[in-house]
Amino acid sequence: MKRMLTLKRVILLVLFVVLLLIARPFTFVLYHWYKDPAPTPYSRTGYSNDASRISETPVDTIIRVAGNRDEAIDQLVQLVHRAAGTGKNISIAGARHSMGAHTISRDGIILDMTNFNYLELDTASNLLTAGAGARWAQIIPYLHQNGRSVAVMQSNNSFTVGGSISVNCHGWQPNSPPIAGTVESFRLINAAGQLITCDRNNHPELFSLVLGGYGLFGIIVDVRLRVVPNVMYKVQQYVIRSEDYIKKFNEVVNSGKPVGMVYGRVNINPSDFMQEAILSVFTVDSPSELVSLKETGFKDLRRAVFRGSANSGYGKNLRWKLEKWSARLIDGKSFSRNQLINEPVEVFQNTQPGYTDILHEYFIPTDSVVRFIEVLRDIIPQHKVDLLNITLRNVKQDEDTYLRYANREVFGFVMLYNQAITPDGEQAMKALTQTLIDKAMLLGGTYYLPYRLHATREQLFKAYPMAGDFFAKKKLYDSLELFQNQFYVQYK
Ligand SMILES: Cc1cc2nc3c(=O)[nH]c(=O)nc-3n(C[C@H](O)[C@H](O)[C@H](O)COP(=O)(O)OP(=O)(O)OC[C@H]3O[C@@H](n4cnc5c(N)ncnc54)[C@H](O)[C@@H]3O)c2cc1C
Repeated sequence: MKRMLTLKRVILLVLFVVLLLIARPFTFVLYHWYKDPAPTPYSRTGYSNDASRISETPVDTIIRVAGNRDEAIDQLVQLVHRAAGTGKNISIAGARHSMGAHTISRDGIILDMTNFNYLELDTASNLLTAGAGARWAQIIPYLHQNGRSVAVMQSNNSFTVGGSISVNCHGWQPNSPPIAGTVESFRLINAAGQLITCDRNNHPELFSLVLGGYGLFGIIVDVRLRVVPNVMYKVQQYVIRSEDYIKKFNEVVNSGKPVGMVYGRVNINPSDFMQEAILSVFTVDSPSELVSLKETGFKDLRRAVFRGSANSGYGKNLRWKLEKWSARLIDGKSFSRNQLINEPVEVFQNTQPGYTDILHEYFIPTDSVVRFIEVLRDIIPQHKVDLLNITLRNVKQDEDTYLRYANREVFGFVMLYNQAITPDGEQAMKALTQTLIDKAMLLGGTYYLPYRLHATREQLFKAYPMAGDFFAKKKLYDSLELFQNQFYVQYK
């Protein structure tokens, strides 16, 4: 009888402990799911803003470009002539996910390209022609129906083609240069209001200036992009020490297997800060049958876990545990290429009033990647910032753009920070950015330009030695400085 009573007590105690262990993460996630605020519009009437939510600037007018091709071209040509006559500046906006008012000029005209989004695929040449305002979210389902996929793009589908080639984006396609390498040609309305076609033979200098040129040389009307087959991949996820990242990457990605996508993550949770990494490798899975596109699963749960990690050490530790656990669950599963790239940024976007998410990216040569991890591990905790995420992407040398960030093979360290929308929050990020740019440059690296304009002028010109010539050529091609934005105003 006494033994039974003790056993019951032990069972109850074990149950209580198990419940306690489950209860905290469960209520934590439930709380963050329940408290998640709805998104609010970026800006007020008369102003423009971008994804940073801290670039709000008064503007003259916001003009939506017509959807019809001939009508749009007429509209744009006239607008350029009118602006030249009145001395108004033009800034060009895609999905506005750049974060330093790259789409805004104070009291200027903002051209919203998103309506101009027609798509045409030539299956014989594998070339897609897309209106500059088309978003990947439209392009991916269109290509999917035709058994094709995007060759190089960002890790989300929310961006426009025009914006993507103007920043020269890159994503999780390893062993590949940035998107410029996949651009066959584009049509541009230049500062004289002429519609011209640019490629590697016609207007080659303008071609390289416009790619990664942040809208400073004219309006990209439409783009011919090389596309690739949509295939099924089998994923393998490796939980490793972060110092072994490059060793593992070379072992699995450069082993001769048909690897199509690779994604790396370094942990940011306080209990083991930047000591571990997860390398996700997607290898072509030939026998798998192609499946149709569907909504990505567990969206609400993934969002609650992710947002719960903002300003919370507990949330960050929990998230990393769950990521490692789900790595084991997902290991060996098959996904289509299109499925992997078809997720909107809204799944993780910050909607908390008074806070915003800000991205940084540093490009580091392969042989200095492990050293840069050590640098980050040392520097970041010295700053009052809230780091949410680090992903690693491989980018091959860029042969196409003028203002290039990949002068050789590099690894992009993409970092996402949760930032308070206050002068102190902005100042803390500025100090961190300037320190990290210096550290990246000491290792032969550089940084990405579409984010906050925190780099000093000296840093920009050091990281991009061709910047002086780039700005000189801007004045040559656009002597009235018709096309402007705050990136140009700050660094020209
Ligand atoms: C959550 C998030 C995730 C991101 N992920 C990635 C990533 O994985 N990889 C990456 O490389 N970058 C990434 N970025 C950064 C970057 O902002 C985008 O790659 C790119 O700017 C998105 O396109 P957009 O349509 O939003 O461009 P916008 O921000 O609208 O414009 C960007 C620049 O292009 C110019 N522009 C736009 N359309 C035209 C046009 N038709 N003609 C001429 N100029 C034009 C604008 O003037 C501006 O200077 C990310 C940004 C955010 C906020």
